[in-house]
Amino acid sequence: MVTFCYRTLKTLQQLLITITHHSYSSLLTQKSQVIVVGAGPAGITLALLLAKQGIIVKLVEASRTFRRTFRGEGLMPSGLNALEQMGFSSILDRIPHRPLDAWKFLIDGRLLFQVKEPIELGGKPCTLVSQPALLEALVEEAIALPNFELLQGTPVQELVREGERVSGVRVGGDRTLTADLVIGTDGRNSLLRQKANLPLEQQSKTFDILWFKLADSPQFEAENVFYSIVQGQHAFGLFRSSEGNLQVGWALRDKTSDWKQVNWAEQLASASPLWLANHFRTHADTLEHPVFLSIVVGHCPRWSVPGLLLLGDAAHPMSPIRAQGINMALRDVIVAANHLISPLRQGEQASIDRAIAQVQEERSPEILRVQQLQVEEAAQADKLSNSALLRWGVSQFAPLLKYPVRWSWLRRQRQLRQGIAPIQLDNVK
Ligand SMILES: Cc1cc2nc3c(=O)[nH]c(=O)nc-3n(C[C@H](O)[C@H](O)[C@H](O)COP(=O)(O)OP(=O)(O)OC[C@H]3O[C@@H](n4cnc5c(N)ncnc54)[C@H](O)[C@@H]3O)c2cc1C
Repeated sequence: MVTFCYRTLKTLQQLLITITHHSYSSLLTQKSQVIVVGAGPAGITLALLLAKQGIIVKLVEASRTFRRTFRGEGLMPSGLNALEQMGFSSILDRIPHRPLDAWKFLIDGRLLFQVKEPIELGGKPCTLVSQPALLEALVEEAIALPNFELLQGTPVQELVREGERVSGVRVGGDRTLTADLVIGTDGRNSLLRQKANLPLEQQSKTFDILWFKLADSPQFEAENVFYSIVQGQHAFGLFRSSEGNLQVGWALRDKTSDWKQVNWAEQLASASPLWLANHFRTHADTLEHPVFLSIVVGHCPRWSVPGLLLLGDAAHPMSPIRAQGINMALRDVIVAANHLISPLRQGEQASIDRAIAQVQEERSPEILRVQQLQVEEAAQADKLSNSALLRWGVSQFAPLLKYPVRWSWLRRQRQLRQGIAPIQLDNVK
């Protein structure tokens, strides 16, 4: 009887949300159906998708602004396709973005091989999208919905439980928020993962990243290229960001090196081909002090406990190699929406808990495969960096080697660009 009344109330509530926006303030004081913790790409898209289905969602974000020092911006065709399925791809037209024209791989000053975008005939090119602008635009859509609330500048501090089941979160000042389901999309150092005692199987760390920004170069006007450069023991990636400056990700392998004391304009110039070396030297005054980004890569054997589901980097922190993390997070969101919308509407805890376990079952194989492909990409760069002889051989015989090397690189890219298996958003009204 109690269950029947609860379900009827839920259905009535759903109807009210769909039909009218008038009871806005009173709805927000009610218990949420979902609390999403962390407004990165995973958190915002899922919160917006669920809210569009009439589910009462609170999105809780620690930072006060989406403009933090660093957010990745490479979207692969799989991520672009996920945004399209969610109905958000028109947002891209309103925010800074730019497709890549090509990838170029340089070794000890020589071009080893290049690949034009889009790689697939008639496919989508990898596109650089301003992540802060994307997040802001998504939030703008969400806050127009009466059943969505954003709590920004509000770090979650603790999980709240009712018996064995997670029933909410505690934020500052001992304020408690409760919901039928808590979703942790709080990134690679996830607090929710720690508080739920969900261990992370971490890959051994081989590098961290120093991230630099500097003045734009006209070189990228004609052709928007992502450069991967190996010079001696050093390796870095360089591209023109969607926001119109150059950005460099420098692989920092030796943690004991005193990188703060390095003359970086000169270091980068000495590892670059002539035109780029000139740019680093001429615009040395615009080279910002690097941001140190600690790389965490791994996978949780369990993504959930009753009442709590982890998604995105919280469940499987991704390596930056070949721009996968945002794309994987968006694909997690589609699968989560497929499994969760119906049980959330019914409000039955047992079926919600069954659904959250199915999300991991469906997503884990792709995540593990993609992380394996990222390891293979990294291993090739490591081999080159560690062997002067190999580098010499590869650069001397580049005209001959470029075909097999390019072929082997392309073979890995299909899954890194498209995902392992098709994913379809199927539960949306
Ligand atoms: C150097 C580097 C370059 C990268 N480049 C790319 C790229 O080009 N393309 C790509 O696809 N991926 C890239 N990635 C990976 C990508 O950034 C992540 O995989 C992706 O951001 C994961 O999204 P997410 O929503 O799961 O988590 P995040 O984007 O990390 O978002 C988590 C959010 O949770 C918030 N949060 C954390 N703790 C709390 C708390 N206690 N309470 C409330 N809120 C909290 C954070 O403030 C943050 O907004 C890169 C990663 C690195 C390190």
